[in-house]
Amino acid sequence: MATFSLKKDGNTRFAPNFIGREFACRSGVDKFLLDLRLPYILQEIRNWAKATVSINSGYRTVAHNTKVGGSPNSQHMVGTAADIVVTGKTPRDVAQFCEWLLAREKISGGIGLYMTFVHVDVRATRSRWDQRSGVAVNISGFPGYNAPTPVISADEALIDRAVASGLLSDKALWLGVITGKITATANQIKALITNGINKK
Ligand SMILES: [Zn+2]
Repeated sequence: MATFSLKKDGNTRFAPNFIGREFACRSGVDKFLLDLRLPYILQEIRNWAKATVSINSGYRTVAHNTKVGGSPNSQHMVGTAADIVVTGKTPRDVAQFCEWLLAREKISGGIGLYMTFVHVDVRATRSRWDQRSGVAVNISGFPGYNAPTPVISADEALIDRAVASGLLSDKALWLGVITGKITATANQIKALITNGINKK
């Protein structure tokens, strides 16, 4: 956990699309706590959504947490939590993506689903709840997000070999293909690479 100053770090970029003031307490107090895994997690959500991730509430002083009716043990008071709204995504979609993302990052963390936003935090223990009724109901998790499978991710080693042997000139281009950023079918790519290697 690190301590920051709104005055000094308000414009500090903690991730490509997130600056310090977004995490600071809405009471306007200068000091704020921030677990640096949080902006990383929010950036991953932003990259997935390809849209704005608005932080309704980040760090809260004890006084501010009490004022806004936060839980007495709120993760917001230790700088590990953010309540977010993601443009173009439902809170349920966001909660499901967070479930997948925290698992990928091996963070137990907390995810809370509300009517209009999602709470996400990077605490060391696991917590999941559905508060759309107004009352927190503990649940086991938010399954449902299926990550797109890379076209032929297992063949990156093959691309490395092909680049090393001079058969492919641009590894970045081919990585773009296998991660689905450039469209081609797995069979087309495999044929290209295999033919190239066979011709050598
Ligand atoms: Zn929250």
